[in-house]
This record gives sequence, structure tokens and C-alpha cells, in this order.
Amino acid sequence: VLVQELTAEARANQSLRRAAELDVLTGILNRNAVDAALARHFTMAFQKQQALALLFVDMDDFKSVNDSKGHACGDHCLQQLAHMLRSVLGSNDVLGRYGGEEFMIVLPGQDEARALQVAERLRACVEASRVQWQEQAVSLTISVGVAVRLPQEQVPTAALERADRALYAAKHGGRNRVNMGR
Ligand code: GH3
Ligand code: MG
Ligand code: MG
Repeated sequence: VLVQELTAEARANQSLRRAAELDVLTGILNRNAVDAALARHFTMAFQKQQALALLFVDMDDFKSVNDSKGHACGDHCLQQLAHMLRSVLGSNDVLGRYGGEEFMIVLPGQDEARALQVAERLRACVEASRVQWQEQAVSLTISVGVAVRLPQEQVPTAALERADRALYAAKHGGRNRVNMGR
């Protein structure tokens, strides 16, 4: 009985911990969890001197989706976007919701060329998809900022800045595009 109670409690604790790591709307990792995963993968990649790429994904003109079709439609689009991103990514890739309509992706082991390929696949997949909402087909696009870990980098701070700057430049360049951060 005692053992059973303990395992039940352990299971309950584990499911609480897991729930605390998830974004309620989309079911993917929340910002805390994806930040922690990034830090962990970064340290490992430095120790093993392996590649690692980081992507910032931001929905384009998302405010206009909310404004024209309503907040519930916007929520549905966020859920569908999370689903699309997950379906393109591999099982070792980490996906999290970083903020409102911004997502972060960690690609362990991926160099610049591979990361750019993945980013472009994500962008093209979203552009080609339609989100069904009340008899309407809603079109979405994303902009993506990409950065890779440099050989001497142990922590993600500078790479996060490069990915963020790259995303900003992708927006400035006209949206629905991928940009590499240097
Ligand atoms: P840009 O192409 O420059 O990224 O334009 P944007 O409209 O996507 O960006 P902006 O930052 O102006 O607006 C983001 C919008 O995302 C505004 C906010 O209402 C919406 N948003 C953020 N979180 C949520 C959410 O959880 N649900 C819904 N429905 N909308 C959200
Ligand atoms: Mg946006
Ligand atoms: Mg944004």
C-alpha cells in the first residue's frame, strides 16, 4: 500500500511539474521551459563542441487577424501554428511559445546550412497552409530569425540577440522570410 501511495504521489508530482512547463493555449513548452532547454542544450553543445541552432519565429501581421476575425480566431491560429511547426520539426528539436505570437526553436546539432533549410521549410509550410475558421480559410505567414552557436560560446545570450536581430531584419525586409543573424 505504501509503495502504491508513493508511486501515485510521484506520478502526481511529475504530472504537475510537466503541466508547469507547458503553454496552456498551445500545449507546447512555455517560455521558462524552452529557455531552460536552450541553456541546457547550449552547455552540452559547448562541452561536446557540437553545432546548435536557434530560431525565433514570429507571426506576421497577427494583430490584423485578431482585429478582423476576432480573438478566438487568433487563439485558434496560434494553436494551428504550433501544430504546423511541430509537424515539420524532428523529435530532438525543441519548440516553445516564447511570448504572444512568438515561438522559439532549438535545433541541437544543426549547423547554419541545416538550420536555414529547416527555417525555410517552416516558412513555406505555414505559407502554403490555410487555417479553417467558421467557413473561412485564413492565410498566415511567419518571419524567422536564425542564429547558430559560435565555437567559443558557452551560454545563449549573444546567440539570442543575433536571432532576435535577424528576426527584426526579416520583418523590416518585408516579412514572410528567413534571415540569418551574424
Ligand atoms: P509583425 O508582423 O510586425 O509581427 O506584426 P504583428 O501584428 O504580428 O505584431 P504586433 O506585435 O503588433 O501584434 C501582435 C499581436 O498578437 C497583438 C496581440 O493582440 C496578439 N496576441 C498576442 N498573444 C495572443 C494570444 O494569446 N491570443 C491572441 N488571439 N492574440 C494574441
Ligand atoms: Mg508578429
Ligand atoms: Mg511579436
